Amino acid sequence: MIKRPVLAANWKMHHGPSAATAFMRSFVAAHQPRADRTVIFFPPAPSLPAVVAEAVLRTDILVGVQNIHWAEKGAFTGEISAEIAKEAGAKMVLVGHSERRHVFGETDAQCAKKCVAAARVGLPFMLCVGEKIEQREAGETAAVVTRQLREGLGQVGHLITTEFLLAYEPVWAIGTGLTATPTDASAIHTLLRSELTAMIGTRAREIPILYGGSVNVANAATLIAAPEIDGLLVGGASLDPGAWTKIVQA
Ligand code: PEP
Repeated sequence: MIKRPVLAANWKMHHGPSAATAFMRSFVAAHQPRADRTVIFFPPAPSLPAVVAEAVLRTDILVGVQNIHWAEKGAFTGEISAEIAKEAGAKMVLVGHSERRHVFGETDAQCAKKCVAAARVGLPFMLCVGEKIEQREAGETAAVVTRQLREGLGQVGHLITTEFLLAYEPVWAIGTGLTATPTDASAIHTLLRSELTAMIGTRAREIPILYGGSVNVANAATLIAAPEIDGLLVGGASLDPGAWTKIVQA
């Protein structure tokens, strides 16, 4: 069972195996295990074994991959399957991160297939949703995140037993230094919780909903204290072990 708050680090295309090992040694020494929170790392796939090895004694730390392909196997050069990720030690996968959606053109239908692929092998997943700035300015935020949630989970069905999480990451806030106010983020998290309740019933209360978008040492505590924000998904500020330790302890 994933303890809340959940503090998740998305390293994107940073920290190869040596840098990942050095980071983890520093972080594991600085952050003693706490039973009241879960820390997740999403390193680049080749660094996964290094991060897993450094966290092997820590039940409060999970390590995952940033992406999977939906097929079980096949001629998909450059891709990894849920099966391969799991065998390599992944305990979680990110699905539909905004960079996957908007840099690589990933669609809701593809996200849905990735959720199915993860669920098929019992690999917990974190489905990311979030609106672009023009959608926000057009008043479409609620419609966009609701569609991404409904379509993303549309094929796993209400009987899904695999653990999963959601992350609300407004695209305009990712890597820009702009952050949603805790009030604005809370409102979207409340909407997502109620949509999720309509889909899976009371189990929706157990699903952590993380906020992401330019979280840093200065704003982490305020965001995490806001209603319905069960954790944080952090990119840039998770790359430095000192900053990340402070955020995890916020
Ligand atoms: C992210 O990559 O999910 C993210 C939120 O990035 P950043 O914290 O750098 O905005």
